[in-house]
Amino acid sequence: MELRIQHLSKQYSNGVQALKDINLTIPSGMFGLLGPNGAGKSTLMRTLATLQDADAGTATLDNIKISEQKDQIRRLLGYLPQDFGLYPKVSAYDLLDHFALLKGLLNRKQRKEAVDALLHQTNLYSVKNKHLGGFSGGMRQRFGIAQALLGDPKLIIVDEPTAGLDPEERVRFHNLLADIGTEKIVILSTHIVEDVADLCNNMAVIDKGSVILSGQPLRLIEQIQGKIWKRFIEKIELAAYQQKYPLISSRLTSGRTLIHVYADERPDNSFNPAQGNLEDVYFSAMAGLLPSAMPIQRAA
Ligand code: ADP
Repeated sequence: MELRIQHLSKQYSNGVQALKDINLTIPSGMFGLLGPNGAGKSTLMRTLATLQDADAGTATLDNIKISEQKDQIRRLLGYLPQDFGLYPKVSAYDLLDHFALLKGLLNRKQRKEAVDALLHQTNLYSVKNKHLGGFSGGMRQRFGIAQALLGDPKLIIVDEPTAGLDPEERVRFHNLLADIGTEKIVILSTHIVEDVADLCNNMAVIDKGSVILSGQPLRLIEQIQGKIWKRFIEKIELAAYQQKYPLISSRLTSGRTLIHVYADERPDNSFNPAQGNLEDVYFSAMAGLLPSAMPIQRAA
């Protein structure tokens, strides 16, 4: 399976250009779409989920044009939107059963089998008769995945699914996504680098409506090795360091400020080499520091 996005653009009526000539080829497996709030991720996800139209460009799943063959795409699509609302007074079982009916699972026995299987898969079977209003954030998101997986979709889109989850729930949710299967396309939109680092074999970074980097996380990490430098500084020195060096991140570690700098050569003897990770890739891309040869590899 392959999802091809070509020259996709979208301007909202208030003048915001949310997508600017997006080009991406997304193969089967987990694909991470990473970017800060306001980057355009949800706009892209909603467009792929047939919920809104782009102004220009195309998106094609194998031979199906998303903007023109919406019914066909919807039969192949599972979608967990960012603001997934639940009926608080309905039980998990009843709501999933209802969604299954809407998906066209009319046979009562088959529907029960499908609903039970998904409740097991998402570890919600033991709470299936509880009202959704009493669910934790993690349980709600797992329920969201259960409804997205109804009808065995081939393209699964999950928009910011781990925002607000505690670390334990996030790991649980990651394990659930990782088990979905490699023959489907799963697009995970997130502003959390760890989500992509843990799960995705392909990724893109989007900022201000444009794709600024794409490729395989492991290869992108390889490409920055030897270029990330670290040192501890005093917090009050931060602004001065920002001015002087291509700083990509600063974080408080054990009460001290650790900075990372992107540079081909060691900036000076006070810096030590750092093992570059996906966060360094992301922040270097966001700071516009990656060489132009590196962005926009074909995600394959
Ligand atoms: P993200 O999901 O990465 O946070 P969005 O796609 O939600 O980004 O938003 C991209 C940009 O488009 C933002 O500037 C946002 O304010 C704007 N935007 C999103 N939806 C609408 C809308 N319905 N009308 C006008 N502007 C919008």
